[in-house]
Amino acid sequence: MNILIFGPNGSGKGTQGAIVQKKFPVTHVESGAIFRVNIKGGTELGKKAKAFIDKGDLVPDDITIPMILNRLQEDDCKNGWLLDGFPRNPVQGETLAKALKEAGMKIDFVIEIDLDRQIAKDRIMGRRLCANDNNHPNHIAFDAIKPVEKDGKLVCRVCGGDLSARADDQDEAAINKRHDIYYDDKTGTMAAINYFRKGDGWKFINVDGSKSIDAVSQELMAKLA
Ligand code: AMP
Repeated sequence: MNILIFGPNGSGKGTQGAIVQKKFPVTHVESGAIFRVNIKGGTELGKKAKAFIDKGDLVPDDITIPMILNRLQEDDCKNGWLLDGFPRNPVQGETLAKALKEAGMKIDFVIEIDLDRQIAKDRIMGRRLCANDNNHPNHIAFDAIKPVEKDGKLVCRVCGGDLSARADDQDEAAINKRHDIYYDDKTGTMAAINYFRKGDGWKFINVDGSKSIDAVSQELMAKLA
């Protein structure tokens, strides 16, 4: 099963993606996480991407598109993938659809998590990253995924790992820029979503991201059935 998941930063896309992954044998391919691993490891790719990411700009297509297309060809993606954070614009979307067709790969579902822009922004500022596993959601404002306190500091609620906030999550200008890109229906992510909304062999699923984590996942699972 191959799935694309869309949602603005702060929509719970990562949390829902982790839930989808428990139900289906898909490998989570997250463009932003690939960049972060490369930045942490000081690779050439990381060095090239860092300046764009810190400002909330998209990393140029000539770096991002081959990175994702190559990732989807790796062994652990053979049984299916959940692609998250890509495509972010129509060029990426159309290139992806074309490349998959050429490789004989099919998209089964395209998920869109709908969320109001202001709510998305408020949510972003409270989320925390687990040092051990990117799929351990933690958020200081949501009881269901609140970090736990250990020795006077907040740690991951799943594994007790160290938590950090992403620099670009605490920078309001960067958040606004990311949302400008997401909600842009001319050249941004909304334009890519509209491209996939029409459907070409896949099922397009829309869920209301303003509800609780459980309610969103129930709606999503029912529609994925
Ligand atoms: P995310 O974790 O999805 O919010 O991604 C973090 C940052 O990585 C974004 O703000 C972009 O700078 C970069 N990035 C992630 N995915 C893409 C993409 N598909 N195209 C270009 N840049 C991306």
